[in-house]
Amino acid sequence: MTARAHALSTRLLHAGLGAFDDSGAAPVNVPVVRTSTVRFASGADYERLHRLRHDGENVATYGRHGTATHRALEAAIGELEGADHTLLAPSGMAAITLAFLSLLSPGEHALIQDSVYGPVRERLEPLLARLGIDVTYFAAKDGVPAHALRPDTRLVYVESPGSFLYEIADLPALGAFAEQHGLILAADNTWSAGWLHQPLAHGAHVSVQASTKYIGGHSDLMQGAISTNDPGLALRFRDTHEALGLAVGADDAYLALRGIRTLGVRLARHAQNALEVAQFLQQERAVARVFHPALPDDPGHALWRRDFSGANGLVSFAFEDGDIARAGRFIDSLQLFSLGASWGGYESLALLAPPSRLRPHSYFSGDAPVVRLHVGLEDAADLIDDLRRAFRLTCT
Ligand SMILES: *Cc1c(COP(=O)(O)O)cnc(C)c1O
Repeated sequence: MTARAHALSTRLLHAGLGAFDDSGAAPVNVPVVRTSTVRFASGADYERLHRLRHDGENVATYGRHGTATHRALEAAIGELEGADHTLLAPSGMAAITLAFLSLLSPGEHALIQDSVYGPVRERLEPLLARLGIDVTYFAAKDGVPAHALRPDTRLVYVESPGSFLYEIADLPALGAFAEQHGLILAADNTWSAGWLHQPLAHGAHVSVQASTKYIGGHSDLMQGAISTNDPGLALRFRDTHEALGLAVGADDAYLALRGIRTLGVRLARHAQNALEVAQFLQQERAVARVFHPALPDDPGHALWRRDFSGANGLVSFAFEDGDIARAGRFIDSLQLFSLGASWGGYESLALLAPPSRLRPHSYFSGDAPVVRLHVGLEDAADLIDDLRRAFRLTCT
């Protein structure tokens, strides 16, 4: 056990360690415990444990509720998020949908940051519409969305930094706005993984993240988590979680737990490499604008410095002109950056976004294609050489 007084790096390594058995020994890592059925020693134990679960305790009476492996991961993510209650989901998207379905009813309204993860807009919004739930998008750069507030508004949902361009929301200001109007503030914390930023300590009631990304860290699992310090919300999440049957495999929980132990050192290296790449891109003639909050001239830099303890490996840049075919040739010329969606693994990735894809983001109104890089753990000079080569081949 470690006290909250310890640094996060210390607490994270000591959260959810394997328990000692009767011999007084224990493995370092909690084992992969797989089960569907839970056996009970007696009818009295069956009754007691089911009563505890009914009263909101996170005990397992069936495999769908998870096992010791899942409890250990929940404890570790709880340390990251500064949360008393954490539930796992089979993907980040499942955790987000879990939040919306738990917090909103037909006839209610949500305010959503306009630079959210694409599938929230493309997949979740139509589902909410079918359920009679209305949404309005707002630009985080314009401050609190007072103009869009309605009598039926219940939820404000942000993703800070936002997808692709890393627009930073003023979370404490949104928290005060939510408090003032009796709203729930939920934040997608995937960018920071909880290591760089704790939404719950900055005014949010709910934090969700895709542990698929940096917590997994090795591009080999899908997972999400939802965290809160509000016991009433925790119960709502648990009930909806049960209704949706959101079971997470024990092997994936184990992999995420293994990833979490090295999260801090990986993120530090991602951030260092990303900053070097971002500074290189700023010097490049074919590049009009570089998006990365650790750059002093990024519009979100001051808020990022105030509310975050570091950056990650994501850097995006806009080309000088709108030649989409040439941007495609650039992407194809890269050798160390694979082409792929997602990010958070050890490897470098590149993804091309046509202007149409970014149009919903009021943060950037240009008509040039944008490339998102996930800068991996390779040698930064090698990655920069790869980018320089691709620019020379396609942009001269
Ligand atoms: C990837 C991502 C998600 C979705 O996570 P999955 O595990 O792929 O479902 C949600 N939010 C953000 C910001 C993401 O980058």
